[in-house]
Amino acid sequence: MAESRNVIIAGAGIGGLTAALALSRAGFRVTILEQAPQLEEVGAGIQLTPNATRVLTELGLADQLKITLVEPQAVRVMSGSSAREIVRIPLGTFAEKRYGAPYWVIHRGDLQRVLADAVRTNPDITLRLGTRVEDFATRRHGVSIKARFAGQIVEEQGIALIGADGVWSAVRERLRWRGSEPKFQHKTAWRALVPANSLDAPWREPVVHLWLGMDSHLVHYPVKGGALINIVAIVDDEWRETGWSASGEPDEVLRRFARWSWHDKARAIIGTPQRWQKWALFERGGPRGGSGVVTLLGDAAHPMLPFLAQGGGMAIEDAAVLAASLAQYAERPARGLRAYEKARRKRTAKVQALARTQGRIYGMSGPEALIRNLVMRAKGGERLLQRLDWLYQWTPPPFEFTERYVTQVGEDDGEDDGDVSNHGRR
Ligand SMILES: Cc1cc2nc3c(=O)[nH]c(=O)nc-3n(C[C@H](O)[C@H](O)[C@H](O)COP(=O)(O)OP(=O)(O)OC[C@H]3O[C@@H](n4cnc5c(N)ncnc54)[C@H](O)[C@@H]3O)c2cc1C
Repeated sequence: MAESRNVIIAGAGIGGLTAALALSRAGFRVTILEQAPQLEEVGAGIQLTPNATRVLTELGLADQLKITLVEPQAVRVMSGSSAREIVRIPLGTFAEKRYGAPYWVIHRGDLQRVLADAVRTNPDITLRLGTRVEDFATRRHGVSIKARFAGQIVEEQGIALIGADGVWSAVRERLRWRGSEPKFQHKTAWRALVPANSLDAPWREPVVHLWLGMDSHLVHYPVKGGALINIVAIVDDEWRETGWSASGEPDEVLRRFARWSWHDKARAIIGTPQRWQKWALFERGGPRGGSGVVTLLGDAAHPMLPFLAQGGGMAIEDAAVLAASLAQYAERPARGLRAYEKARRKRTAKVQALARTQGRIYGMSGPEALIRNLVMRAKGGERLLQRLDWLYQWTPPPFEFTERYVTQVGEDDGEDDGDVSNHGRR
């Protein structure tokens, strides 16, 4: 019976939507339960490195994404105090040739819209908005999920539950891992979008600008085909509310980029936005897996600091590996989920650790910062990029629907206890 193929995903963020597309490609039916009543455009940009763009391209999304994305030609590392370039790391065709996949920057809302459109037009995927996953119980042949929709409890059945519900994951909480609460990192990310023509010409180029300075750093790059500039300022802070969109006072962020330590050119960029949104940064220790037919993906499994621009990338990679592992062990979903977790553990832990280190390097001051700048200059852009070959060269396993899988599902279906709802593929 084909109903044994329904996978439930909690959360329609970048990870959940990509996982749904990859799983449907591997032959599963998918139901996504998302707590938000609608998928809103969260105003910020995201860098998509070749390891992530390779998966999105494989899913057939490149043409739609290309309508609004920007292909940056370089990362320009700038000194916050002198406004001089420290080093220029080549991207564009150089990176695309090196990795066989491009480096993109895009508005997060544009990425989410392309993913959501592909989900909505896919007959094998059901997206239920306004539906908050609250609990689950595993059964012999699957999992039963309790969710809240319009104040009522609704139930969903599936062969597996994927917790793609972000850093404050309810699924992770129900798995009751001890000592794995998100830890506040005493930093906030301030984010804003401004019209490109409100900044001086050099800052409108298709380049990721990274400014390093005292106690803070600044990143900006164009999105929306170059019409808007996404600005992210990371500062030391004790404000620790959760959520994506608390508003911040423009004067407050400018104060963090003090005149005596930050060049006027950088302060002019910080002084441009009228509206800022801020986000407290949280992280958790090593990645956690799941139990039985339940697993975690993306920020729910391994939330990380944004200094390597990899949180979304790791969620996208997770999605591809999850689909391939579940397809490989179609007759034993729990085994497929453990294979997925095993395949992801080392890599995501390494990326989490490197993001932490990168944060320390960005936060250096005084003589340490001088040495850092000298070392960067001496190494040069190409060698700095080469350092990340292991990260960007990653290739997803094939997650196509295979004949072998059809046979396995057929065999497994005969053993099903019939206790799952009918979400048959055909
Ligand atoms: C300042 C900053 C800059 C960043 N820049 C980059 C970058 O350049 N590149 C990059 O790759 N990453 C970047 N990241 C990280 C990236 O944004 C995240 O890692 C990524 O969005 C995680 O995706 P996700 O799908 O796992 O979780 P989320 O995007 O958090 O999605 C979780 C979804 O689950 C839903 N949900 C939550 N609880 C429930 C529930 N109980 N039931 C149902 N639904 C639920 C939520 O509403 C949400 O839609 C950045 C992060 C920050 C803070």
